[in-house]
Amino acid sequence: MRPISMVDLKSQYTNIKQDIDSAISSVIDNTGFIRGKEVKEFEKELADYLNIKHVISCGNGTDALQIAMMALGLQPGDEVITTNFTFIATVEVIALLKLKPVLVDVYHDTYNINIEEVKKAITPKTKAIVPVHLFGQSAYMEQIMQIADEHNLYVIEDNAQAIGADYTFTDGTVKKTGTIGHIGCTSFFPSKNLGCYGDGGALFTNDDVLAEKISVITNHGSKVKYYHDVIGVNSRLDTLQAAILKVKLPLLDNYCNARRQAAEFYNTAFAKIEELQTPETAPFTTHVFHQYTLKVKNGKRDILKQWLNDNNIPAMIYYPVPLHLQKAFAEYKDSSKNYPVTEKLSEQVLSLPMHTELDNEQLHYITGKVTEFFE
Ligand SMILES: *Cc1c(COP(=O)(O)O)cnc(C)c1O
Repeated sequence: MRPISMVDLKSQYTNIKQDIDSAISSVIDNTGFIRGKEVKEFEKELADYLNIKHVISCGNGTDALQIAMMALGLQPGDEVITTNFTFIATVEVIALLKLKPVLVDVYHDTYNINIEEVKKAITPKTKAIVPVHLFGQSAYMEQIMQIADEHNLYVIEDNAQAIGADYTFTDGTVKKTGTIGHIGCTSFFPSKNLGCYGDGGALFTNDDVLAEKISVITNHGSKVKYYHDVIGVNSRLDTLQAAILKVKLPLLDNYCNARRQAAEFYNTAFAKIEELQTPETAPFTTHVFHQYTLKVKNGKRDILKQWLNDNNIPAMIYYPVPLHLQKAFAEYKDSSKNYPVTEKLSEQVLSLPMHTELDNEQLHYITGKVTEFFE
């Protein structure tokens, strides 16, 4: 059996080596390392895939979120509501821009931001909501857009974990996650569902004015070289990464399917284990399983993790510390807020290996070992 890893980028590369290698050497031949033609081509191809007007690439997913908040003109002291159960990047940039992160609890079944809690957190200072499509399924976007409409708020989707997922509205309209709010952000970090071979990110929007602002901000606030209209940042997708992403984008739907099949295999194998809760998918979204995250009951999470590691099966805890308990966010602590769900999740969740190259032998071995643990 091939060794099992959380993410197997090597096997994925081996399967597309020829195309990747020739894409890379073509960029090097042309030496168009920064803002080469592949960058624009990739942006256009991703926009077509997502069915959105503008894709603007940038240096990474964290920058994408920061640039989104800058482009929307959020000002120090403005409140931004987001989930308490996410990767640090979402909240980090809010704090860096001197905006106030207002963290709210999540649903226990989908791990996504709780709509009732969002409503309760709105104040006259609230300017934006940042839903995160955690682990590969969409947050409750229809309700979030309604709330945003009623209160005149911006919505920035953190789509770093869910690129390729579909959201179905009550009227039957289907949209890709990341294309529903005012701006969508994503990351091309290597282990993400559409990953490059280094850092990369992008913003999506249907708004021409915002698209222009975003594009100027990513390039030192400049439209014409050496003329700077606003304070911007230096955050660009390397041409090499764009060329790699151009090879991988046409494979994204296959990759999502491979992840779903692995998840299906796990779900079936674990259905009868009472002490495990398999991931639940909300009815309005497809799930692209950036992570396959179980809930382990009766305090057995850590010993299961150890047992798997002893059997050469990596397993990870996303996320071990809810954001309101992170040292870096101590100053935003709000004693009027409770996070019973996130606190419980941080003790129960366990993510199993999930990637596009898991084979049947590996899946049998993993599910066999998990089952053995509970026997
Ligand atoms: C990965 C990730 C980011 C940040 O992306 P980088 O490219 O690593 O900066 C932001 N939000 C979420 C939810 C992520 O998973």
